[in-house]
Order: sequence, then C-alpha cells, then structure tokens
Amino acid sequence: METKILEQLVAITGSQYAKTTAAQKLAYSYDATPNFQAMPDVILSPGSTEDIQAIVKVCATHRIPIISRGSGTNLAAGTVPTAGGVVLLFNRMNQLLELDEGNLTITVQPGMITSEINALVEPKGLFYPPDPSSMNISTIGGNVSENSGGLRGLKYGVTRDYVKGLTIVLPNGELLKTGGKLAKDVAGYDLTSLYVGSEGTLGVITEITLSLIPAPASKQTLLAFYNHLEEAAEAVSSIIAAKIIPTTLEFMDKGTIETVEDFMNIGLPTDCEAMLLIEQDGDPLIVEKDMALMHQLCMEQGATSTQHAQTEVEAEQLRIGRRSALSALARKRPTTILEDATVPRSEIANMVKAIQQIADKYDLVICTFGHAGDGNLHPTCLTDARDQEEMLRVEAAFSEIFEHAIQLGGTITGEHGVGEMKSPYLEWKVGAAGMEVMRNIKKAVDPLQIMNPGKIFAKDTKKRVVVQHG
Ligand SMILES: Cc1cc2nc3c(=O)[nH]c(=O)nc-3n(C[C@H](O)[C@H](O)[C@H](O)COP(=O)(O)OP(=O)(O)OC[C@H]3O[C@@H](n4cnc5c(N)ncnc54)[C@H](O)[C@@H]3O)c2cc1C
Repeated sequence: METKILEQLVAITGSQYAKTTAAQKLAYSYDATPNFQAMPDVILSPGSTEDIQAIVKVCATHRIPIISRGSGTNLAAGTVPTAGGVVLLFNRMNQLLELDEGNLTITVQPGMITSEINALVEPKGLFYPPDPSSMNISTIGGNVSENSGGLRGLKYGVTRDYVKGLTIVLPNGELLKTGGKLAKDVAGYDLTSLYVGSEGTLGVITEITLSLIPAPASKQTLLAFYNHLEEAAEAVSSIIAAKIIPTTLEFMDKGTIETVEDFMNIGLPTDCEAMLLIEQDGDPLIVEKDMALMHQLCMEQGATSTQHAQTEVEAEQLRIGRRSALSALARKRPTTILEDATVPRSEIANMVKAIQQIADKYDLVICTFGHAGDGNLHPTCLTDARDQEEMLRVEAAFSEIFEHAIQLGGTITGEHGVGEMKSPYLEWKVGAAGMEVMRNIKKAVDPLQIMNPGKIFAKDTKKRVVVQHG
C-alpha cells in the first residue's frame, strides 16, 4: 500500500487506533482456521459508522480490500486478509445502543461480545437464545455475518431468526438501513436476511437490532450414555417423534467423550460409544413432564446409564463438558481441523459411521461431536499442519466427508460459513445456478470486489470424488 494512502487511512481513526508494525500485521494474518495465512497492510479500529464510511470511501477509490474482523474465531478462514488490505476491528464499537422492552428488541454495535447480550437482558427477565460455543469470545457482528448457531438451536433457531434490522456501510461508502423493530414488514426483498451469513462480502455491519424473548422459567439437564451409535441416533429420532422439541440435543462420540473427561474430570464414563446431552426449558410442569418422557425414551433405546443434573451448577458443568469438546480435542495434536458437515437428523448414525470409515481409510484420527437434534455434526481431525503428506490425506478425507453429507441430503456447513476454506465446495451444495445468482448479487453490490475478496467464491470448484462406503 502506498504511504500516502496509508497515511490517509490512519488519519481517519488516529494513529493510536491503527496497527502498522510487522508484528501487529502478523497477529492479524490468521484466524481460528488452521493452515490459512496472509498479511494485511494495516489494522484499523474505527470509533463510529462515520469513520467506517470514510475508510470505505478511501478503499473504494484505490480498490483496497476491506476485511471486517470480530474476534477472528471463525473456522473457515473468513477473516484471513487473502489479498492484503485493511483489517477493520470493532473493539471500539461494542456498546449497547438501546434496550427496548416495549418492542422486545436490543440494538447493539457489532463488536459486543455475544454473551454480554444475555448479561444485559437477563436482569429484565429477557433472553437472547443463540449460543454459539464461542459466545464468551465471539462478537455479535461475527455471529450475524456467519449466521451462527448453538446448543439451543433445535428449539430456538439460529442467529438469523433474531436479526430484525441492520445498519450497513456499503462498498461505496453509502449507508443502508434494513428492517427495524416491526413484527411485520414485507416491503421488497429481505435485505436483512441477505446480509445475515454474508461473511463480510457485501458491506460492513455497524448496528444490529435483535429480537428478544421472555426468559424461560425453568430448565433441566440430562446426559444419556450408549454402547452403540445407532441407539443414540434412535433416541434422537424417538424424542422428536414423541413431539418434544428439547432446547438442546447434543451428541459426542467415544473419542470426544474420552478427551473431554481426560481434560475436565467430570465423571463421564469412557467405556461407552456415544453420549447425548439433553435439555429442556420453559414452564416447570412441562419441563418435568418432557424430561421424564425423554428419560424413558432414552432408556427404551438402550441407554446404559443416565445422569440428571440436580443443581444449575451441576448442569452448567455438564454443558461446559460439551462446549469444551473442541478445546479438549485441540490439546491432543498440534493442529485441530473442525468441520461442520450437516445431514438430515435421520442420517446421523449413517454419517457418523461414514466419517469413521473415511478416517480409517486415510489413517487419520477424526472425533465427532455436534448438534444431534439439528443433524449438524462437527467431525474434528487431530493432525499436524507441518506434515504435508498427512495434510493431503486430511484434505482428501474432508472432500469425501462433504460429498457423503451431500449424498445423504445434507450440506457442507450448518453454521460455520464458507469463507475461503470451503469455497471450493460451495457449488456442490448450491449448484451452478445458485453460484450464478450469488455471483450476480456480489457483482451488483460490490462491483469493485473490495469487500473480503477471496471468500465464499472460489476460483475453481473442487472435483467431486466418487464415494464408496460398503
Ligand atoms: C471454540 C470455538 C467454538 C465455536 N463454536 C461455534 C458454534 O457453536 N456455533 C457457530 O456457529 N460457530 C462456532 N464457532 C465459530 C465462530 O465462533 C463463529 O463463526 C462466530 O460467529 C465468529 O465470530 P467472530 O466475532 O469471531 O467473527 P470473525 O471470525 O472475526 O468473523 C466471522 C465473519 O464475519 C465477518 N464479520 C465480522 N464482523 C463483521 C461486521 N461487523 N460486518 C461485516 N462482516 C463482519 C468477517 O469478515 C468474517 O467473514 C466456534 C469457534 C471456535 C473457535
């Protein structure tokens, strides 16, 4: 980047909010995704929407890439500055703008840490349901841009279901306001939804209005353990078939249970093949009834034992066990690649078995956990990015895993987004027509291609492999 342009950009935020040293640039050259790295030219922390408009206008004039970055916890290389340029941080834009109890909405800046939203609304008896496992560190701007999901997704849905309005700086520096607080609004295309999950490729989100719901009156937590994967999968199906929608219905395989127990020592049995974490919230009488029925169904499907949390402290410990799955697994080998293949609920057992077969075929360690109730599985490969031969096997294995998920009626990502990592696979899911529509939207909104270039749209689609599984 020319010194003159750099000076112009730094003058907008002031030099105390700009990072330009080699060490600082290195720190923002990667995110939570292994094996992707590229250097930015400068890192800026704007203080307002107006600052961002001024930055974007300079970047548009000189065709400089802009990479919006929340906490960088995404797992698809979505914030790697692939083509250099300006990394925008929101650490100064993390404030509550309005809590509107009459309309049950909260309006915040994008840099607010997700869990802080509940800390703000809970004292008012309100609740913001989306709870990505990363919620204590990820930002709401990142959650909106990835359409993140969480453990409560089965009953309450994902981030998209709570985003009511956005303020966005467009790639030409103009301001777009979408949606609002209305319960009903059908005027024109749904631009709010277009921006949810757009991964920073269509503009910079600077304000977010979310809907809230009344906080549930009570909650109960149960673990069920199985000797066979199929039994755990059957328990999931029979719970849904019994017309119960639990808040949480999570799955961990043997490898994950062993690692979490080794890490946390919370008394999980390590001699079982699968575990379900089940929660229900709401009116105490209904919760009591649902939990009793779910317990019965788990036992009927062959659970070897169950563990019912007696107190909220105990429940939180069981939840943390599942939430810590990734961190626990990450201790095992130098590189952890967590994927996000999703299948219809009824195919969970088939998918988990296929993942194991693929791992064996390529001589890899892949543990699986995830949101059983949503069919959203996270096959997690414990590997070493320095071993090039092993990395080739990892890539081939994940190609087969994605292909198998699509063959079962699933998708390449249920919540983590496409970013750069999964861009070569997107066409497998959306087809040529889907890619054409998406490319045309991108061209229309960002004709200079300055917003997070190299993400979502790959130069080439990966060749599909032919998958044979017994
Ligand atoms: C341990 C761990 C657990 C996780 N668990 C979950 C989970 O349960 N569910 C889940 O869905 N994900 C999960 N993730 C993935 C990740 O945390 C989420 O995708 C999260 O939403 C990213 O938030 P972030 O603030 O870190 O955003 P970043 O990673 O910084 O950015 C994510 C994307 O959003 C864009 N972006 C960020 N802010 C803006 C903005 N203001 N305007 C426009 N674009 C913007 C970026 O350009 C990028 O494309 C997990 C990750 C880790 C490391």
